[in-house]
Amino acid sequence: MTELNEGTVQKLDFFARPADEQQDFLQQTWCNTCMEMDLGMKNPVEYRDKDKLWIEGECVKCSTKVVTEIVEEDE
Ligand SMILES: [Zn+2]
Repeated sequence: MTELNEGTVQKLDFFARPADEQQDFLQQTWCNTCMEMDLGMKNPVEYRDKDKLWIEGECVKCSTKVVTEIVEEDE
């Protein structure tokens, strides 16, 4: 059963993405603590739930959790 119900969060393998996408997502960040964009993140983990997809990692500069939401375009 892989169907996702309301409130279910599934952990995905970020490193299964193509290398160029990984680079983009790791670089394009916003840190609420540093108040700066594109500082970069480390230790990324990808998650999805019923209606969205996002990556959680740590700010390279201050190690606070940063989250990048992924907008997937369906055709
Ligand atoms: Zn930071």
